[in-house]
Amino acid sequence: MAFVVAIDGPAGSGKGTITKIVGEKMNLINIDTGAMYRCVTLACLEKEIKPEDNDKISEVLESIDIKLEKQNEKNLVFLNGKDVSEEIRTTRVNENVAKFAAIKIIRDKITPIERKMGEIQDVIMEGRDIGTVVFPDADVKIYLDCSLEERARRRYKQNLQKGINSSYEEVLENIKQRHKLETERDIAPFVKAEDAIYIDSTNLTIEEVTEKIIEIISKKKLEISNKN
Ligand code: C5P
Repeated sequence: MAFVVAIDGPAGSGKGTITKIVGEKMNLINIDTGAMYRCVTLACLEKEIKPEDNDKISEVLESIDIKLEKQNEKNLVFLNGKDVSEEIRTTRVNENVAKFAAIKIIRDKITPIERKMGEIQDVIMEGRDIGTVVFPDADVKIYLDCSLEERARRRYKQNLQKGINSSYEEVLENIKQRHKLETERDIAPFVKAEDAIYIDSTNLTIEEVTEKIIEIISKKKLEISNKN
């Protein structure tokens, strides 16, 4: 395992933005694992496959090719060679992703890919089960929390900026429902790892959270280099 920073947090907690900034400043490859679950969901929706249809999902998983690439400061997501960076953030995917992400065969496909990424390079990986299931021995584990209302407000604002048409109430309902599915599922439920550092970002700016996390990572790196 290389140096691994695990950032787990709910939708709208700011983890995407923060992970990107911290990754750049600390020279860590930024991996958005939610994007991978979104890709599988999109691939299934395109083929009109329902979450109950395990056989058809298996077929999709056999040939799926997901790539996360950084081009001109932008994190792009490719599904079977096509740039789907925007398509995976649509309401249709938002409304279905938590159902597909609860399926065992899908998690069994994605988890080893994530582990491999963290074995070959220093990473900052964001998701829901990184510190609990994917890398229980991560060097740094952060649980980034935020109140539901503030998360909905942030996501709503983000959508407006991206030109995505949705009301505040719709956004609130979607992240509430996703949270319920993610925390109550049997496999890899979204919970705080016992040894994760808890940060509540409700009343903090992006800069404040970023600074805190950089301080934690720097301390850990110093500890490791003093040991060697
Ligand atoms: O982080 P983001 O909101 O883009 O993630 C999309 C969905 O993927 C989440 O709602 C969750 O259901 C699922 N997910 C997951 N495990 C991860 C990352 C995301 O189940 N490690």
